[in-house]
Amino acid sequence: MSKYIFITGGVVSSVGKGISVASLGKTLKSRGTSVCVQKLDPYLNVDPGTMSPYQHGEVFVTQDGAETDLDLGHYERFIGIALTQASNVTSGQVYSSVVAQERRGDFLGGTIQVVPHVTNEIKRRIREVAETSGAELMLVEVGGTVGDIEGQPFLEAIRQMRKDMGRDNVLYIHVTFLPHIAATDELKTKPTQHSVNELRRIGIQPDVLLCRSDKEIPEATKEKIALFCDVDREAVIPLVTSDTIYEVPLLLEDAGLGDFVARRLGLKAGNTDLEEWREMVARLKAPKEPVIIGLVGKYVELRDAYYSVREALCHAALAHDREVRIEWLDSEQLNGMADEKLAHVQGIVVPGGFGGRGIEGMIKAARFARERKIPYLGLCLGMQIMVIEFGRHVFGSEAVNSTEFDIGSAYPVIDLRPDQQGVEEKGGTMRLGTYPCHMVAGTTAARTYGCEVAYERHRHRYELNNQFRRALEDAGLVASGLSADGRLVEIAELRDHPWMLACQFHPEFRSRPEAPHPLFMGFVEAAKSTLLEGAQTSLPLNLGK
Ligand code: GLN
Repeated sequence: MSKYIFITGGVVSSVGKGISVASLGKTLKSRGTSVCVQKLDPYLNVDPGTMSPYQHGEVFVTQDGAETDLDLGHYERFIGIALTQASNVTSGQVYSSVVAQERRGDFLGGTIQVVPHVTNEIKRRIREVAETSGAELMLVEVGGTVGDIEGQPFLEAIRQMRKDMGRDNVLYIHVTFLPHIAATDELKTKPTQHSVNELRRIGIQPDVLLCRSDKEIPEATKEKIALFCDVDREAVIPLVTSDTIYEVPLLLEDAGLGDFVARRLGLKAGNTDLEEWREMVARLKAPKEPVIIGLVGKYVELRDAYYSVREALCHAALAHDREVRIEWLDSEQLNGMADEKLAHVQGIVVPGGFGGRGIEGMIKAARFARERKIPYLGLCLGMQIMVIEFGRHVFGSEAVNSTEFDIGSAYPVIDLRPDQQGVEEKGGTMRLGTYPCHMVAGTTAARTYGCEVAYERHRHRYELNNQFRRALEDAGLVASGLSADGRLVEIAELRDHPWMLACQFHPEFRSRPEAPHPLFMGFVEAAKSTLLEGAQTSLPLNLGK
């Protein structure tokens, strides 16, 4: 039977709850405990697939094609596991299934209530992941902060779980924030006390407090928190802002969290083996020569929108003993200024996206890359952009486009697949999840992957239009990765360019700090040999924060 750790957040959001959960998972797995993770999101959307990146940041796609919260990306990268749809539960899913059961007559005669019907459905979904994964330990993160109205059924469900599963099998961790008052140079504990009181009001006494703070937490402050919040002193764990997120597992382990949890839950824990991770973090923190990558997208002011892309670049750069420095370039502001803004980059990434805003700027960036022979990596939309730009060059017409942006284009080089024609419903109807990509021998793709077939995650509606494939290929576009039946172009590259390659899938979701993705490796390798005149290498470095 699995044991459970439930993680809630208090005080404010965005203090790194997801990274803390991923880090705890890493430390416990490194002791030989098998771990599975689940995120409970209290919002009413069925999944974040229909949400704007401004609302939600990146949508992380699992191998089975679920559109999920970006925290699942942290879990996969840190713990080195591949999760499924069942690892992200939302209120939307829970209520939909309770209402469907009611309509079917499953509760005939009964009044359907939040307690017990909604809470039972939440608990069922938690136990289901534990059972199907067979993990010894389930880490369950509740999204939002304590006190949110829509979070209450989830908190009630996890409260009941301690009674259901046995007191020794369940542990509660609460992640809080200690604000720093500059005038008195003090860290304040009152918001943490209030937040714990709020939890207790609904019947949850936290066993561990993870206290995020931008400053070292004095011993007396930890003691005060322990006393006022009634937790063991050793269970008040500081989470001081670090240089890189990958350091967090080490900080938690060194603060004794792994030992405390293993003891409390009676995990048959071996010795922690975090040596490789420790060594990786040391390499990450060591000063290195930068590789400067221009990331051209329309959500660049909101970097969470490209979380996995940024991490994948960081992983590949580390493997090449470089520090990736990303220039975040807003594609809407690039039009007309592309040459100037891209002059200092060693490689260009155009990531995924939807809708016509900012497209022309991305096309300018692709043109710059093609003409100046700068390495280019296109991810999903980034492949469509590369094809449109190349098409405009080949056909000598600005009318070349995707039907997503110009429904009446005379040269629709990117178009809906036949099975997407007429699809009206927006949620969960794209081409989602893992599909094989067969490499074409002798291409950059085949060389970079070093294997014949790769299994990659997708999230798109549009494809390269086969009507134009022949003409584009004759002009120098190489379809270097294909679907099993050869009809869908999964990877495209340019013949007369040192490294201009793009894929219709999202390789960024499979990159891990310990196992960078081959396409990012190939791209960074090409980019690091781009020589730049007057490259500014002395600016502050991005350490994958
Ligand atoms: N908007 C494009 C499509 O739907 C690209 C999607 C993406 O980049 N994820 O095909």
